[in-house]
Amino acid sequence: MAYRYDHILIRYGELSLKGKNRNSFIKQLLANVKLALKAYPGLEFEKQHDRMYIYLHDENPEAVSETLAKVFGISSFSLAVKTEPDMDAIVQACMESLDLSEKKTFKVAARRSDKNFPVISDQINRIVATAILKNSDWKVDVRTPDVKIVVEVHSDAAYIMTDKIPGAGGYPVGVGGKAMVLLSGGIDSPVASYLMMKRGVHIECVHFAAPPYTSQNAQDKVMALAELISPYQGEILVHVVPFTDLQLAIYQNADESYAITLMRRMMMRIATKLAQKRHCQAIATGESIGQVASQTLESMQAINAVTTMPLIRPVVCMDKVEIIDISKKINTYETSILPFEDCCTIFTPKNPVTKPRIEKCERYESRFDWEKMVDWCVDDVKSYWIHPGVSNEEEQDEDLF
Ligand code: ATP
Ligand code: MG
Repeated sequence: MAYRYDHILIRYGELSLKGKNRNSFIKQLLANVKLALKAYPGLEFEKQHDRMYIYLHDENPEAVSETLAKVFGISSFSLAVKTEPDMDAIVQACMESLDLSEKKTFKVAARRSDKNFPVISDQINRIVATAILKNSDWKVDVRTPDVKIVVEVHSDAAYIMTDKIPGAGGYPVGVGGKAMVLLSGGIDSPVASYLMMKRGVHIECVHFAAPPYTSQNAQDKVMALAELISPYQGEILVHVVPFTDLQLAIYQNADESYAITLMRRMMMRIATKLAQKRHCQAIATGESIGQVASQTLESMQAINAVTTMPLIRPVVCMDKVEIIDISKKINTYETSILPFEDCCTIFTPKNPVTKPRIEKCERYESRFDWEKMVDWCVDDVKSYWIHPGVSNEEEQDEDLF
């Protein structure tokens, strides 16, 4: 079928502010756009200094738009019709691309980036509007039109657009380096992952599973969450750590009130080793101050003490309702609230310490050979590539470490 639009015009996001890095940003954005849209082989891409164009060639504009809306680094984009930079061709393309059957109000906003084009913007507006008024029941409304028709005239082509679709904002994923995110099955860590990607940071995820105390369902839920956030990056590598033995050792050797803190310290040690092996520059979590007893500044101090990697907590100062709002927006909320056990919830002590002392953590840890156990965890990691639309991937067989 022939679609009304043959192009998508992409406006760059914040990257336009970054003078020197501009070229590498645009290059990364193009790579990300291509990866996101690889299911549409007919598309053709063209990057320019201030815009990017996608030639649709009979691919479905709506489907392509939906995928494009999740690519970071785009401030907005528009479905467009491309035509010759010639007044007759512009009028004809407008008449063909607009659905004039329904009665609507409109406004024409022309922009002439080619100042040699013989018709000035005001006149372009008038000529196009006159043609529409003559051939339909449409009325002009310059303040709140139902349809705003944008005509852009460049030296080599003219573009006609009607809607500006909001982009995902942020920076193209990859321009900000790479981080290892601790992904649980909860509400916060998928939101933290999204916010990291939005800042242009490529993420890999690590999940700690404690079978048989945690079920396959719990792990599947984490994979489903990774799948839901994967469109923002194209694909996500998820590492699953077998955490049971280490967790049991903590319970055998420490006071119950310290179990969560010690568990977090072990998680952080393992995450640090994985992050180093995978060339990440930071670790991120979904922790938020005061949200639960174990998320106090003292607790964060005890956790940070075991790593020299930057620890980023994107939701650290957000209210739960703010985090929930984002999780609803990115569509992870419904999955996050599914009632499967996490390794933390299973071993939750009745009175977790809210102000853990580092010396005390170290004393408990000195009672067992945790270093060896941490290494086992790292050695026995299973890794999975998660792609949009597929969350039950086969384990990765290529050697990643
Ligand atoms: P979330 O909603 O992200 O699970 P939460 O409010 O339940 O967070 P906690 O369970 O205390 O908080 O976990 C705090 C953070 O620790 C999580 O956001 C996540 O980054 C990390 N974390 C906790 N459990 C796991 C796990 N099993 N695997 C990986 N990371 C985890
Ligand atoms: Mg949790």
